[in-house]
Amino acid sequence: MRTDIQIIEVGPRDGLQNEAVTLATDDKISLIEHLVASGVTRIEAVSFAHPKYVPQLADAEAVMAGIAKRDGVSYIGLVMNWRGWLRAVDTGIDEVNVPLFASDTFNEKNQGVPTSESIEVVRSIALDAHANDISVTATIGTAWGCPFEGEVPIERLVETAAVLAGCGVDEIAIADTIGVGDPWSVTKRLSAVADVVGGVPLRVHFHDTRNTGLANTYAAIEVGVTRIDASVGGIGGCPFAPAATGNIATDDLVYMLNRGGFGHGVSLSSLIGVSGDVEALIGRPVPAMLPAAGDFPPPRS
Ligand code: MG
Repeated sequence: MRTDIQIIEVGPRDGLQNEAVTLATDDKISLIEHLVASGVTRIEAVSFAHPKYVPQLADAEAVMAGIAKRDGVSYIGLVMNWRGWLRAVDTGIDEVNVPLFASDTFNEKNQGVPTSESIEVVRSIALDAHANDISVTATIGTAWGCPFEGEVPIERLVETAAVLAGCGVDEIAIADTIGVGDPWSVTKRLSAVADVVGGVPLRVHFHDTRNTGLANTYAAIEVGVTRIDASVGGIGGCPFAPAATGNIATDDLVYMLNRGGFGHGVSLSSLIGVSGDVEALIGRPVPAMLPAAGDFPPPRS
């Protein structure tokens, strides 16, 4: 067995956030529980974004209250700002993920403030979170490119990561928000980031918008990143490319990791079953390829 890879399942949050249909609270709860039953140990379950902006996930408190939490599983909530943090802290969440963006224009449009101000929000949340025994991830979005500014200079990404590393976060995620990265730039950018974060673990969040998601994941693993975001069935589009897929599919990632001999703890057959449930819930086929192609070698029955 090679290095263990930690899969962070983001379907219930990042996937559903970008789907047209809004699931019932009970359906979200059973989706989360089925993913955990498949072996997922870190799961982005809810969002504490303002319901006006993300109406599909307005029921974060009800979802967290309804989950039968399992030992050894870490439930994550997305927190956009201090107000979101105040909602999250009372729900029994294990971790929060706070996004900000390497591109100021995107940060202004998404968070209403420049990147430097979002970093200060992360610093405050990290301080309070640790007092409450909650872990904090900061995600740097638009780490490869921005729909408004175009190419994001590597220096900008590295500088943002370096400042964040000094904010007391437990992990820094690097996200290709609009899916424009390629594996060679992944090698270059993640190596440069790793040099400035002083041992803070890195995590990656790739989008398959231009079909480079798994290639980018391979490149990230090759430079030593072991924490990878993925979404069951590959659900979740990208708001800037409506016809394209968003997150890399957990199903496809698990297949690739299995073939590579990596440990991760997730059952592919169980996950494919959950993808089937998701198709029924969202009313369309999921973009993941494994549910259609099947595992190889074929599982013995
Ligand atoms: Mg995403």
